[in-house]
Amino acid sequence: MDPKYQRVELNDGHFMPVLGFGTYAPPEVPRNRAVEVTKLAIEAGFRHIDSAYLYNNEEQVGLAIRSKIADGSVKREDIFYTSKLWCTFFQPQMVQPALESSLKKLQLDYVDLYLLHFPMALQPGETPLPKDENGKVIFDTVDLCAIWEVSAWRTEHRKGRQEEVMEKCKDAGLAKSIGVSNFNRRQLEMILNKPGLKYKPVCNQVECHPYLNQSKLLDFCKSKDIVLVAHSALGTQRHELWVDPKSPVLLEDPVLCALAKKHKRTPALIALRYQLQRGVVVLAKSYNEQRIRENVQVFEFQLTSEDMKVLDGLNRNYRYVVMDFLMDHPDYPFSDEY
Ligand code: NAP
Repeated sequence: MDPKYQRVELNDGHFMPVLGFGTYAPPEVPRNRAVEVTKLAIEAGFRHIDSAYLYNNEEQVGLAIRSKIADGSVKREDIFYTSKLWCTFFQPQMVQPALESSLKKLQLDYVDLYLLHFPMALQPGETPLPKDENGKVIFDTVDLCAIWEVSAWRTEHRKGRQEEVMEKCKDAGLAKSIGVSNFNRRQLEMILNKPGLKYKPVCNQVECHPYLNQSKLLDFCKSKDIVLVAHSALGTQRHELWVDPKSPVLLEDPVLCALAKKHKRTPALIALRYQLQRGVVVLAKSYNEQRIRENVQVFEFQLTSEDMKVLDGLNRNYRYVVMDFLMDHPDYPFSDEY
């Protein structure tokens, strides 16, 4: 098999390509660009495509996937598509309808992976960040296990009510696999230890790059057969909506640049390769044709164990996406050590 299509087996028997295409673009980028770049990514060799309700591009990403299927470039089963349940749809009865609404936009029959986007419930509804009159985001209280697990919902609520939660989405065939994103160890353990758990999360998608290498969370996930998927692996898009403009620029790091020079590659490729060699599935966003093509070169070279140690040494537990406006949320994940 072409190394570009390398995949990892998930704990439910499905396979996830180890390199994924990130599709998030900030609101000012015209939505149609997502069609063009997703097609380019599939042409370049990406088979794993990451999106979410929140990205407001599922219509365009779905169109791109379907057009590459229609022109014979790929089959549906060659593509691994991820969507995510946004935090304003965490009331258990809203989970499956939210996935169905994503599928309708995508015009696909199933997603390969459905994730809980963040472990923090927000006031239910279509507004992604509902705010009160003082501009403060309005939280909701939902037990994270109740969104996950059929039995928790069945025992805590009246019998006979529809169990439209994450596990049900998998049983209904709407999501081949289910997982979480931005969960800390304690929150992962809560799900793993819940009596009656039917399906473990297959992955935890978290911010991960040489400045925040997540080595402890990675060890924990490996010990539980949960794949760690790295988002923001190139140091994020540095958009002011999410990231402090004064934050350090990862791809300008001198150590990363020296390794790039040594391998005659770019700092971005070194940052991506670093993840693959430590058993992390890595996402790379680019809306630029040349950089999309460049990023699949991650399979063309190897870092030495010495290079890996040097990269490990760059860790400074520096998080770009802090989501400080949610810091008061009782389920805010980033106050724990990991
Ligand atoms: P990223 O992958 O860290 O990339 C950051 C920037 O790097 C991009 O804006 C891109 O700019 C640039 N870039 C890409 N390839 C490059 C190369 N070869 N050389 C130099 N620069 C390069 O960006 P991200 O969007 O923050 O994260 C990736 C994906 O992870 C997202 O798109 C999304 O799918 C997912 N994500 C998930 C969460 C979550 O909460 N679960 C959070 C954040 C992100 P150009 O477009 O100009 O090339």
